[in-house]
Amino acid sequence: MKAWIEKERLDGEVVDCLTLILPTRGCSWDSCYMCSYTSDSDRSADQEKVYSEFLNAVEKKHADIAKIFTSGSFFDDREVERSTREKIYRKAKKRGFRKIVVESRPEFINERTVEEIANSGIEIEVGMGLETSSDTVREHLINKGFTFQDFKNASRMLRGVARVKAYLLLKPPFLTEKEALKDVFKSIEDVKGHADLISLNLMTVHSKTPVEGLYRRGLYRPPWLWSAVEVLKRADVELICDPVAGGKRRGPHNCFRCDADVVREIKAFSLTQDKSVFSTECDCIERWKLALRAESLTESFIFS
Ligand code: SF4
Ligand SMILES: [Zn+2]
Repeated sequence: MKAWIEKERLDGEVVDCLTLILPTRGCSWDSCYMCSYTSDSDRSADQEKVYSEFLNAVEKKHADIAKIFTSGSFFDDREVERSTREKIYRKAKKRGFRKIVVESRPEFINERTVEEIANSGIEIEVGMGLETSSDTVREHLINKGFTFQDFKNASRMLRGVARVKAYLLLKPPFLTEKEALKDVFKSIEDVKGHADLISLNLMTVHSKTPVEGLYRRGLYRPPWLWSAVEVLKRADVELICDPVAGGKRRGPHNCFRCDADVVREIKAFSLTQDKSVFSTECDCIERWKLALRAESLTESFIFS
């Protein structure tokens, strides 16, 4: 099982966070065009194994926050049964974690989940991969399988008992750089009343996905890091971003010379929310500006 310590924000302070990926049977939906997480799953994982992997990680490492990822949905009983989740809450509390962070699709949030969280005895943050507030983009370009209304319903239920984090995806396939920015700016406006925190996810090309098929044919370029910087600089809400594979060809990137500096600034911003961290200058910003002028083939379809 993968587990590591990183820094995170908690109530305005920077604290240690133990991130661990539990080996569950994986996402029940398993159909988003950019996702290969089920290749990290373990079809044979039973509940004993799921819990013992959790125990192994939390007994070796201590932190203020535990981020528990499953490559799917923590509240999907097929991945993590309720009795296992309840053992996880008790153990996390006993080991002194102040908060746990989990992820779920909205269809697994219901009255029972709300009651379970209310009785967990520990602060819980639930991240949901909304990706965009546009149902057209989410349905046709991502194949997410739920609507913005589904997200809002789940968020309304959760917000009485948990913090809600919305993940937004920068640059689904078939959008130009400019359309992707427009989609994210609109999504932030639409989502901010329905989430406590927004996480900007920058597209990375996973292997064996439809997005990889486009990438291999030269029909998809991951977003520029300059685009992420633009979103973070303009934000008027708490916004975090972890540029996974930043500066790699298959991840969000600029010209490969300034990438390490820009990635460092994006991470620093996520911890501090301080916009003055953005100071890198590079000639490639002119190429990004040119990319923003690229013609769109889909604009009338997507934004009509
Ligand atoms: S819902 Fe999440 S884990 Fe499941 S296929 Fe989509 S992106 Fe992957
Ligand atoms: Zn550059």
